[in-house]
Amino acid sequence: MLGLMQDWPLLVHKIIDHAALYHGGREVVSRSVEGPIVRTDYRAIAARARKVAHALDRLGIRLGDRVATLAWNTARHIEAWYGIAGIGAIYHTLNPRLFPDQLVYIANHAGDKVLFFDATFAGLVEALAPRLPGIELFVCLTDAAHLPKANIPNLVAYEEFIAGADDHFAWKEFDEHTACGLCYTSGTTGNPKGVLYSHRSNVLHAFIAGQADAMGLRAVDCVLPVVPMFHANAWAMAFVAPMIGAKLVLPGARLDGDSLCELLTGEKVTMTAAVPTVWLALLHYLEKTGKTLPDMKRVLIGGAAAPRAMIETFEKKYGIAVVHAWGMTEMSPLGTLGTLKPAIAELPYERQLDYKVKQGHPPFGVEMKIVDDDDRELPRDGRAFGRLKVRGPAVAKAYFRGEGEGAFGPDDWFDTGDVATIDADGYMTITDRAKDVIKSGGEWISTIEIENIAVGHPAIAEAAVIGIAHPKWDERPLLVVVLKPGLHATREEMLAYLSGRIARWWMPDDVVFVDAIPHTATGKIQKMALRERFGQYRLPTAAA
Ligand code: ADP
Repeated sequence: MLGLMQDWPLLVHKIIDHAALYHGGREVVSRSVEGPIVRTDYRAIAARARKVAHALDRLGIRLGDRVATLAWNTARHIEAWYGIAGIGAIYHTLNPRLFPDQLVYIANHAGDKVLFFDATFAGLVEALAPRLPGIELFVCLTDAAHLPKANIPNLVAYEEFIAGADDHFAWKEFDEHTACGLCYTSGTTGNPKGVLYSHRSNVLHAFIAGQADAMGLRAVDCVLPVVPMFHANAWAMAFVAPMIGAKLVLPGARLDGDSLCELLTGEKVTMTAAVPTVWLALLHYLEKTGKTLPDMKRVLIGGAAAPRAMIETFEKKYGIAVVHAWGMTEMSPLGTLGTLKPAIAELPYERQLDYKVKQGHPPFGVEMKIVDDDDRELPRDGRAFGRLKVRGPAVAKAYFRGEGEGAFGPDDWFDTGDVATIDADGYMTITDRAKDVIKSGGEWISTIEIENIAVGHPAIAEAAVIGIAHPKWDERPLLVVVLKPGLHATREEMLAYLSGRIARWWMPDDVVFVDAIPHTATGKIQKMALRERFGQYRLPTAAA
């Protein structure tokens, strides 16, 4: 027998309609790409999103067509998302930090028909345009006065594009399983792979992310997603904030400490989210200037492991609670969040920190398990590590156009490519990416754990551990570190610092000091590049 409840389709544009009706005057503040800080609200965004929908419809964009965006977090970008999705077309976020060849591959693979871009990227778009034959119209997210003088065919200013369009244009009707958004993962192995979100998965994911022990956003909150919309949906913020009625502050192109601090303080931001490298820079800026963030209550750190020292500095020095989160593009992206369970919240602070450095526990809507090489489930004892598998209504079941089939197992269990432990309380700890793990004498060494401890040394800004070939042990760890400006440390001091904090056989065989550690387009340490750079490195322990 079926239930007798309504089949109310979970469609993304219903979120912006809800926001317009019940939180219509709630502000959305952007640092515009043109320069000044501009203010709008959910009512205006919803109306302009309908104009975008109408303008695209007039152009001939139909259900299932891909419309790319190459843009920073701004109100216009959000309007474009909702407008595109509202006619059943698919917003496809392009990551401007990728190399031009990768962008060309991705846009052509996706079959993008229109490209919305920020003026910042005019030069890039000019160079790409001849290689993107499928794109019929290039829309620069600005007004006619600021339209860059670039040699881009079929170029129009966004404000001209939507001028005259109907702000009451009716959304199209379609099934909630209809594709809504497309985002490619950086594809460290093989070509980039497209994750195709549906309306249903995006709406459910916003519900999941909004839960009190997940992001815990409320209408009284003011959120600043530093994490770009082109990085896994800005971790759902563009959906959760309007769903809840929280004020949204969008940082545009300027993500440096000074610009962020101005917005965080000036707009009284209570919650923000970004990858650790952004916080590294912001904390450095705060230390240098002596500034504080009096309104900030919570910071979400994810995309790469949040080191203990970073969590401690935010919490003890600035009184800002850290929520450490893990996820991936394939998961929309949230997988786990490190909010404290009651028994852990009662522990002394130092013990709580042991849990905060873990990646957290899954909210309802995410299932996870760890398995061995034969796909047998491993115990949840905090010690056994294995490949982390996940499933849920906001987890991918395939990549766009059938790429990367191997990651999707039977019963929808998706292999994350991460190696992890799960403890008895359900807290998951990522010990490595499967491809970065160091195998020494048949045992695994967690590079992430060593890195997290190494950056606790007061002179160290950033650390990476990679495996170097070793005649006896197959591989041994090499610690690569970047010093904080003006500070100094020696190899021996680094090793002494680690001694007693990690297992003896995990101790790096050597330490090298470098000026900078390379990062991927989504802010992760580029281990592959480091492995190439130190490919011929000879460890002092590798005697001839
Ligand atoms: P890409 O692979 O395209 O950079 P993702 O942002 O989807 O994009 O990356 C997901 C991966 O990032 C995860 O599989 C995991 O390895 C890593 N990651 C994300 N959050 C964390 C975290 N809190 N701690 C450690 N690793 C993390």
